[in-house]
Amino acid sequence: MRIHVLGGGPAGLYFAYLMKSTFPAYQVRVLEQNAADVTFGFGVVLSGRAREIIAEGDSDIIERLGARAESWSDQHIVHCGEAVRVDGSSFSGVARIELLGELQAMCAQSGVLMRFGQRFNPDEMRDCDVLVGADGASSALRDNHADAFGTKVRDLQNYFAWYGVARPFPTHTLTFVRTRDGVFCGHHYRYKPGMSTFLPEVDDKTWERSGLYAMEEEQRRRHIENVFADTLGGQPLISNRSLWRRWRMVTNDRWSHRNMVLIGDALHTAHPSIGSGTRLAMEDAIALWRALKVEGTETSAAFQRYEAERRPVRERLNKAAERSIDWYERLGEKMHLAPYDFSYDYLLRTGVMTPERLERYSPQFMARLREAQGVNSG
Ligand SMILES: Cc1cc2nc3c(=O)[nH]c(=O)nc-3n(C[C@H](O)[C@H](O)[C@H](O)COP(=O)(O)OP(=O)(O)OC[C@H]3O[C@@H](n4cnc5c(N)ncnc54)[C@H](O)[C@@H]3O)c2cc1C
Repeated sequence: MRIHVLGGGPAGLYFAYLMKSTFPAYQVRVLEQNAADVTFGFGVVLSGRAREIIAEGDSDIIERLGARAESWSDQHIVHCGEAVRVDGSSFSGVARIELLGELQAMCAQSGVLMRFGQRFNPDEMRDCDVLVGADGASSALRDNHADAFGTKVRDLQNYFAWYGVARPFPTHTLTFVRTRDGVFCGHHYRYKPGMSTFLPEVDDKTWERSGLYAMEEEQRRRHIENVFADTLGGQPLISNRSLWRRWRMVTNDRWSHRNMVLIGDALHTAHPSIGSGTRLAMEDAIALWRALKVEGTETSAAFQRYEAERRPVRERLNKAAERSIDWYERLGEKMHLAPYDFSYDYLLRTGVMTPERLERYSPQFMARLREAQGVNSG
């Protein structure tokens, strides 16, 4: 069988590796427009559960990343200058470039053919048994066949950018800063010694009132440094093609068309506030690989099996993402809450976390919440 994978991000590389290591006789090719050692952004965060799920494909990747990952067990939510500690989470941060580097090495060892540094036209790559669209949120493969896939794209209200900073934050942190222009939210976490990802987000009103909408990228970067001066401790934000934009929610009514099939962000973007885009992309890769293992060269049957098994999971997460997006878009209405009430509201925003589960996983946070509520109402 001949398999072409368009896009060498986490989804494309992981799928290619799993296929080639299971079916050494297959020809598996990855086509990536960037050079092998170039990517956008800085670090990605993976929860403990995400690491377990990724390891279901091949635990080697998690072991390889283990030594390079930064791990922490608490989350901090900074509101009104007070850091609220939420115990009981398990997260790791890893540089995106290192994740890709490890996946590339695994692909090379298993015999996947990889071509870098050229933007490929998907329609010229269709001479194969399976063409996998792993070409990310702006997938050309998907957009060239948008009617066949039933693609729906929705631009969300809030704006964000993905920066780095040479400041090792102790744990995964969300910092909320109110200025006279509106509310600014910073998601930040360490992904290697001395380095963190810093992802600022604003709603559309703040975007307008602060003048960010009219600024050049460089001015925007400096504006955000000023807003978060205390958090950043004087460190500059570092740009790596860090462009401000609105989040695009992409969904597809059909996941395959003829010999083409979508995985990862090309199929379905996951909002960063539920923090699991990389995990979901790699999980799609596992699901497609499993379906092809069962159905062999019956690719249509494999595509149907892949969609039937994976769609319910994706739709459940989509519902959680919708609720999270709504919370962030109405952030201004939440800012009057005291730090513990605010954090509690945040933690329950998707409906996935319930008060009972919080009691079980974050008992110290819940004890301090009750204490704070007692103090406030007393
Ligand atoms: C601001 C931001 C923050 C994020 N934070 C997190 C986080 O903390 N945790 C997390 O898990 N995820 C995070 N994500 C999401 C995560 O980056 C994506 O969900 C994940 O990378 C999806 O993987 P993918 O392989 O599907 O697509 P991508 O990683 O986008 O890979 C697609 C690849 O296809 C290549 N490509 C595209 N078109 C072509 C073409 N025509 N020819 C050749 N190559 C092509 C691209 O160069 C790219 O390498 C974040 C994303 C953003 C934008």
